[in-house]
Amino acid sequence: MEELVQCGLDAAVGAGADFVEVRAETRQSESIQTKNREVDSLSRQETSGVGVRVLKNGAWGFAATGVPTRQAVQQAAARALEIARATSKLRSRPVTLAPEGVYRDNYSGPCRRDPLDVSLEEKLELLLSAAERMLAVQGVVMAKGQMAAWRTEKVFASSEGSRIRQQLTTCGAGIEAYAASEGGFQRRSYPTSFGGDFNNAGYEFIEGLALGDNAERIAEEAVALLSAPPCPAGKFDIILDSSQMALQIHESVGHPTELDRVLGTELSYAGGSFLTLDKRSGYRYGSPLVTIVADATVPGGLGTFAYDDEGVPAQSLDVIREGQFANYLSSREAAAEIGIGRSGGCCRASGWNRIPLIRMTNINLLPGEGTLDDLLADTPHGIYFETNRSWSIDDRRVNFQFGTEAAWEIKGGKRARLVKNAMYTGITPQFWGACVGIAGPEEWRLWGLPNCGKGEPSQVMQVGHGTAPAKFSKVDVLGAG
Ligand SMILES: [Zn+2]
Repeated sequence: MEELVQCGLDAAVGAGADFVEVRAETRQSESIQTKNREVDSLSRQETSGVGVRVLKNGAWGFAATGVPTRQAVQQAAARALEIARATSKLRSRPVTLAPEGVYRDNYSGPCRRDPLDVSLEEKLELLLSAAERMLAVQGVVMAKGQMAAWRTEKVFASSEGSRIRQQLTTCGAGIEAYAASEGGFQRRSYPTSFGGDFNNAGYEFIEGLALGDNAERIAEEAVALLSAPPCPAGKFDIILDSSQMALQIHESVGHPTELDRVLGTELSYAGGSFLTLDKRSGYRYGSPLVTIVADATVPGGLGTFAYDDEGVPAQSLDVIREGQFANYLSSREAAAEIGIGRSGGCCRASGWNRIPLIRMTNINLLPGEGTLDDLLADTPHGIYFETNRSWSIDDRRVNFQFGTEAAWEIKGGKRARLVKNAMYTGITPQFWGACVGIAGPEEWRLWGLPNCGKGEPSQVMQVGHGTAPAKFSKVDVLGAG
């Protein structure tokens, strides 16, 4: 890998590039899905290649190859340079990069049991025994399980002198129970509805998820939801469980703070942002309880690494500090464009054949104090939402609507009856401004989302969100039937 990277670097520099980055990456992945008592799909893949990104006359060029020879890498370097030269004739303003240090490093992420070395029998036993427990509950018509793992090795080199090798292991799993009656069907998922929960860790993370211990509970809840009354509509104090909070943060804080969306240079999939540059100082994003950080250093997060794909070291930056907007997520180019001194280290590519884009790292809401029960006890009448089911948000990330698989009416400070089809809606800064409680560190959990889409051609990225359950006052709850 190192030799090919050096070869690409030498070729691009020798041909006259002003700046060069070369990334070589090998990624092995495995995905298992089960349905009832059988394997539904099983795949194992490996992809590897080298990407060369160059700057020439103030414009980018990028080319990549999956052929592991010196000649193929030299050709990719030449092509990248050709693209940059052609593009530079169309650019009105040259690309500049925020300054960055030069690093030589070798990083290996945490992993006690390599998930790709664990036997298929052991993995299937875990998923199928959970399925058995779900199917044992009367009224359950289908039980699903999924598990996925990735091992990524990458080498980065730049013409500025950085040489960085990183190895990351990621895995996760989840289960779903479906119940059906003449009136429709209901699904309950554990731990999330996005294929489960994921961590940058070894198989020990999957073992710790306790899928089997939760199988019966979610199956019973799916059945109970069939005959549960619809969620009442109106303005309520609401409490969101931490997995729903993760998605709330992702959509209404993570995406709008991506600086390329703000600048309009990357609008695919999730659109632009309401968080225009005039809001850089003194903009009130939420209540004083709300402090959100972009932390690429927290152990286990899907947005945790030693260096991003521009060779910028992992950082922890305040995105929202005590309710005030503080920092965008940035790359070297975007940081230079708005005149901040340094990249926030948020630039990642989904593979060797993609250019790095500004991506969330781990966008974490810092904990408050007390437990979920304390938040409930303080709520005479409200709704408690658990496990995302649906989401929609406009392309400036202002108006949103989220639904959850299950919800409970809160009466007299306690969870009362289960209600179905619960949804809430809000306007981003007003909603965060209505945050009146965040549970403490004992309820804080770091969630891994493996499937955030952005860019064209599309890039699927793994990001993290740490949060505790939180309470918001007087939110519009929709009682969709
Ligand atoms: Zn996303």
